[in-house]
Amino acid sequence: MSATMLGKKQLLIGGEWRDAADGKTMPVVNPATEEVIADVASAGAADVDAAVAAARAALAGPWGKMSARERGRLVWKLGERLVAQIDDVARLETLHNGKPIMESRHIEIPAAAECLQYFAGWADKVHGETVPVKGQALVYTLREPLGVVACIVPWNFPLLLAVWKVAPALATGNTVILKPASQTPLTALALGQLAVDVGFPPGVLNIITGSGATVGEAIVRHPGVDKIAFTGDTSTGRGIMRSAADTVKHLTLELGGKSPNIVFADADLDAAVRGVTTGIFYGKGEVCAAGSRLLVDKAIKDAFLAKVAERTKKMVAGDPLDPKTRLGAISSKSQLERVLKYVELGKQEGATLLAGGSRTDIGTGKGYFMQPTVFGDVRPDMTIAREEIFGPVLAAIDFVDVDEAIARANDSIYGLAAGVWTRDIKKAHYVASKLKAGTVWVNTYNVYDTAAPFGGYKQSGVGREMSVHALDYYTQVKTVWVDLS
Ligand code: NAD
Repeated sequence: MSATMLGKKQLLIGGEWRDAADGKTMPVVNPATEEVIADVASAGAADVDAAVAAARAALAGPWGKMSARERGRLVWKLGERLVAQIDDVARLETLHNGKPIMESRHIEIPAAAECLQYFAGWADKVHGETVPVKGQALVYTLREPLGVVACIVPWNFPLLLAVWKVAPALATGNTVILKPASQTPLTALALGQLAVDVGFPPGVLNIITGSGATVGEAIVRHPGVDKIAFTGDTSTGRGIMRSAADTVKHLTLELGGKSPNIVFADADLDAAVRGVTTGIFYGKGEVCAAGSRLLVDKAIKDAFLAKVAERTKKMVAGDPLDPKTRLGAISSKSQLERVLKYVELGKQEGATLLAGGSRTDIGTGKGYFMQPTVFGDVRPDMTIAREEIFGPVLAAIDFVDVDEAIARANDSIYGLAAGVWTRDIKKAHYVASKLKAGTVWVNTYNVYDTAAPFGGYKQSGVGREMSVHALDYYTQVKTVWVDLS
């Protein structure tokens, strides 16, 4: 692997690139090589003040006066420009996150471009209604932007999760401050440059890089920010809810998960083996909706787990920039340590290690690589069955009938997603109706589309992203009464 140095990166505030006010920077590390690949501005409270001022000024400037259709055209162009730059942006995504280039180039950056163009189409189709009321009055509603929307995103899908927020926010006329995770700021900065290039007015999209504790907190507490759209850890989400309370901000939260993937004995078992393994190992398991709890019918448990373990052992970590690689590097040293800690806990609590379990390397002696790992004999009360590991670790639990499968699936503080594998159509719909999860996949797993809503039940979040439903979370309704008497 050759050394890559992308140089110094600045903040985008009011259409201009600038250093942090206090000149601080932070390194960005390639988790596959452990090399520093960029030095990025590490913003502070003064920079947040400047970004909020720029975003508020932009609301009152040409952006606020632009027609909805024109706004949509700009958002569309941003998607078009992202497609034109797709190879470069996908490479950046892989360099700072460690994900296979196949995932960035062929799935996630294309999905980000599609999301921009999907919401571009909505820009001139969001409108109010007339309301029949008693008495002599004309009553109508207006759908208006919220104002300044701050998007705070994690490191696992750095650009895609940013765009899930930025696209509907811009299409509905808000201005945006985007704060990427400190580990993975490069593709958000690239998006900022594309927005400048296609002609967004200054201040409409601002990019602030820096630590969550400093910049994130300053954004959440800022009285000039109207809404926080957050994706990240559930405990961070709880803190954001508390901090946002003082200024009563609008909030959408996409948080953690411990999603069950339920395999009944009557399923197409070969398809289920593939669905269960990609359901946990896509994105190195650093996926909020990862199917990290396999619930398997006791009648087929041993045979099914043997097949899952066999397939898992064939998955070998590789250079993320190699198009053939399907398992990349864990995103950071601290995340690798966290995952390994959970593997130790699993062993200590009595689960049986069926595959993986250790750090590995790809022949370079560098990088945060981890073997894909499967545990059998997991009891529902074990830590690895309850806590989100956010890595390539599958915990297999058995069940004896449909009711126990549903009860075990719902036995979690989380409710982001779930999978059901069966050939019995009645059972499939029945189980889907009983699962407390924002998305249920039947005979498939981990599929997404911009037109389909995504979000969590229970402590997996508040609100929905993508689809027509997202528009509600970026607009507010004004009711106008006109006396006709
Ligand atoms: P994190 O909560 O540590 O960080 C997320 C973002 O919040 C980062 O930009 C971080 O800098 C910022 N942040 C941290 N502390 C903050 C604070 N006090 N105030 C404001 N901002 C703060 O999460 P992570 O480790 O980067 O991401 C992993 C988590 O994200 C997992 O729990 C995963 O399940 C979740 N996730 C959820 C979804 C979903 O759609 N539900 C999608 C992807 C990831």
